[in-house]
Amino acid sequence: MSAHGFTTAILHSDRAKPIEHGALHKPLHGSVAFEYADARDLARVFQGELPGYSYARQGTPTTAALEDKVTTMEGGFASVVFGSGMGAISATMLALLRAGDHLVSSRYLFGNTNSLFTSLEQWGVDVDYVDATSAAEVARALTPATRMVFVETIANPRTQVADLAAIGEICRARGIVYVVDNTMTSPYLFSPKRVGASLIVNSLTKCIGGHGNALGGAVTDSGLFDWTTYPHIHDGYRKGDRSKWGVWQIRKKGLRDAGASLAPEAAHHIAVGAETLALRMDRICANALALARYLESHPRVGAVYYPGLESHPQHARAGALFRGFGGLLAFELADGIDCFEFLDRLRIVVCSSNLADNRTLAIPVAHTIYFEMGAQRRASMGIADSLIRLSIGIEDREDLIADFRQAVG
Ligand code: PLP
Repeated sequence: MSAHGFTTAILHSDRAKPIEHGALHKPLHGSVAFEYADARDLARVFQGELPGYSYARQGTPTTAALEDKVTTMEGGFASVVFGSGMGAISATMLALLRAGDHLVSSRYLFGNTNSLFTSLEQWGVDVDYVDATSAAEVARALTPATRMVFVETIANPRTQVADLAAIGEICRARGIVYVVDNTMTSPYLFSPKRVGASLIVNSLTKCIGGHGNALGGAVTDSGLFDWTTYPHIHDGYRKGDRSKWGVWQIRKKGLRDAGASLAPEAAHHIAVGAETLALRMDRICANALALARYLESHPRVGAVYYPGLESHPQHARAGALFRGFGGLLAFELADGIDCFEFLDRLRIVVCSSNLADNRTLAIPVAHTIYFEMGAQRRASMGIADSLIRLSIGIEDREDLIADFRQAVG
């Protein structure tokens, strides 16, 4: 992060580099191709010797401005943006892992990330799923072939908080790439670089974009990992500034070859949304804590999972690491209350997928986004059939609580 405060730095990040016509927002460039008067310059751009744009699948001035913004927010070295958060995660895996490698992943994962990792297993990558709330479990799973450890900060949907600092220490000591998915906390609430993350993933669709109107994802290289020690950097990328090798390979092998590119229009929406990240997150965290407390005290509500509650097993850890406890909250209704009927009674809260929209969203996860993985895997993640996931928005708190009051009955 720059010397300025979080929001000041985001608001003025476009002005840190030359901008056209004095525009306060970085212009929206729709061009797919870029002209070079000197053909040798085009060749130099392709070969990474000259900064510039070759073809929009690898980036445009608009996506580059967003990359700078995300890098600033994460206090990182460089970022690559993608067409979605899953695009960012799959590109990172594709770019860095090979058959025979070992990946240690948290068992508590977003469902589609879990599904992607099962595909990695089909391609010859060994994956172990461990309880990442305990660093000892991660340490126990490591083998000489372990190349990467992957965790979410606050796990979607049950809100387990990984032992982020201790896992970072283990990865640093063993020279393992540590990937932290910061989607649920956002760079405003938490800086994974502080706990030694090598790569930081954000679904830009969520907190950073914030308005539910654009898909996007990002991978940020924190600058902490020594890529000269990583055996799978292609010879062609082992040249020049060593700190760029990892991010260069992710851009080439992950973005260029797999093609999950972010459209400039979406990048622009996300960049505008990012300006109010801190404002929205402060309000979302306050709303979520108030609602979690209300639900926990309600006799017709069963378990409530929110890291801001004293009853949450990792409450102290979350308090020590995060600026706030986020907008992800999950709960089970008391026995005998039908979760579908409950959801249908909500009037303000919207029954919908997605997270970190300005509107509060609710979804019965076992029957929707976590349906495909089956009952056994759900049980290992602590997902009950009646679990309802809430993504808290910025509505007026009293209206939200009143909606839950009338729906719980
Ligand atoms: N990571 C986490 C923790 C998520 O919750 C999600 C989506 O919900 C993703 C990644 C994927 O993001 P996207 O929907 O932008 O692909």
